Amino acid sequence: MVAPFPGATAGEGRLSPSQAVIHSMEESARRLKLEGEVVQLLRTAWRELRVQLPVRMDDRKLRIFEGYRVQHNGARGPYKGGVRFHPSADLDEVRALAMLMTYKCALMDLPFGGAKGGVQCDPTRMTTGELNRLTRAYTDHISTIIGPHRDIPAPDMGTNAQTMAWMMDAYGQRFGYTPEVVTGKPIELGGSVGREQATGRGVAICMREYAHLEHVDPHDVRVAVQGYGNVGSWTCRIAAGMGFRIVAVSDVKGGIQNPAGIDIAALDRYFALAGSVAGYPEAQPVSNEQLLELTCDYLVPAALGEVITQENAPRIRARAVIEAANQPVTRGGDLVLNQRGIPVLPDVMVNAGGVTVSYFEWTQNIQQFRWDLERVNEELESRMVAVFGEVTARAQRDGTRYRDAAFDVGVDRVGKAITLRGFV
Ligand code: NAD
Repeated sequence: MVAPFPGATAGEGRLSPSQAVIHSMEESARRLKLEGEVVQLLRTAWRELRVQLPVRMDDRKLRIFEGYRVQHNGARGPYKGGVRFHPSADLDEVRALAMLMTYKCALMDLPFGGAKGGVQCDPTRMTTGELNRLTRAYTDHISTIIGPHRDIPAPDMGTNAQTMAWMMDAYGQRFGYTPEVVTGKPIELGGSVGREQATGRGVAICMREYAHLEHVDPHDVRVAVQGYGNVGSWTCRIAAGMGFRIVAVSDVKGGIQNPAGIDIAALDRYFALAGSVAGYPEAQPVSNEQLLELTCDYLVPAALGEVITQENAPRIRARAVIEAANQPVTRGGDLVLNQRGIPVLPDVMVNAGGVTVSYFEWTQNIQQFRWDLERVNEELESRMVAVFGEVTARAQRDGTRYRDAAFDVGVDRVGKAITLRGFV
C-alpha cells in the first residue's frame, strides 16, 4: 500500500537543501512503491545535535562557535559522514548532507548509515592553534554520540587530515586510543594511503566512464572545474593524467581559463607559492560565476553547494554536469538542465570515492592491517566502475535521470534494511 507523501509534488519554488533531498527520496519511494511508514522515517533525521563551542582565541578573547552533528539513518550500519568548517554551515545544510550520506553509502553498498557534522566558522581566518582548540571542543561536545561502531566522522570542506588527527587525539584522551573513530587521518596515525586523492579519483573515474559511454576520447573533452581544494585539485590531476583537457579552474579568490588546456603540474607549482589559482600567468582570468557558463564539455562543480540554479542553468553551455561537490545543482537548476537535455551525473555517485576509501581505512584500522596503494586504488576503481554501470544502466532501463537511478538504488537498500531490522 503506497501512502501519499506530502510534498511529493512540490518541485517548483525554493526548497531548502534538506527539503531537496527529501523530495528526491520521496520520488524514489513512489517509483519503488516503498511503504509510507519507511518514507515517514526517512523524512527526518534520527538525531540532531547542536552544540555551543567556546574557544579562547589567540588575542585571549572568547568566541562562541556553533557546531552540529546530524545522524540521519543507521539501519545499514554505524553513521558515517564528514565534518564541514564553513561560515555558511547551518543545521539544514548539515541535515541535507547527512541524508545524502545515507543514500550514498547505500548506493556504494558500504555498511554505514548517513551522518554529517559542521561548525560555523571561517577556517581560512583562524590560526592553527585556534583551529586545534575549536576541533577539540567540537569533538568533546559530540564525543558521546560518535565512536567506531556508532558514528565515524571524516574530512569535508574546510577540514583535512590534520583536523582528523586532532579529533582522534581528543576522542582518545577520553576513551583511549581509538584511531578507527575517524577516517581521513594522516598516514602516520593510521590513515589509508590513497584516501586524500580518493574523492577526486572517483570523480575522474566517473568522467572517464561517461566519456566511454558517449564514445568520446578524453583528449577531446574540455573540462571546467570550480574549486581547487581537496576534491577539485585531485580531480584535475587525475583527470589530466587520463588525458582530459582542463580548460578552467577556480577557487574562492577567483578563476582562470585557457581553452588550449592548463598544465596542472605547473598550476600546482604556482598554487604552492600563491595560495590560489587566481593570477596564474599562462591563462586568462575568469570569475567563479563566469566559469560555470563557459563553453566546455564537462562542467565539474567541486566547491560549494547550490551554485547551479534555475537562474543560471539556462546559460550553462557544458554538455554534461559532473557533481563533484555535494548538492551543487538546486532542484530548480536540475529541472532546467533536464529540460535542456544536459545530463547531470549525481553527487551521491560521483563523489562517493571518498567515503569508499574511508571505509577501507576503517576496516584497515579495525584489523590493525595496512593495504598498499595499488590495492586501495584497484578496489576503488572496481567499485566505482560497477556502480557507474549499475546507475547508468538502470537510468536507461527505467527512462529516468541518473540522479533518480542512483537514489532508487540507495533508497531501496535503506528501505529494505529498515524493514528487516523492524524499525517500522
Ligand atoms: P576544500 O575545503 O578542500 O576545498 C574547497 C574549495 O572550494 C577551495 O578551493 C575553496 O577555495 C573553494 N571555495 C570555497 N568557497 C568558495 C566560493 N564561495 N566560490 C568558489 N570557490 C569556493 O573542500 P573539499 O573537501 O574539496 O570539498 C569540496 C566539495 O566536495 C564539498 O561540496 C564537499 O562536501 C564535497 N565532498 C568532499 C569530499 C572529501 O573527501 N573531501 C567527499 C565528498 C564530497
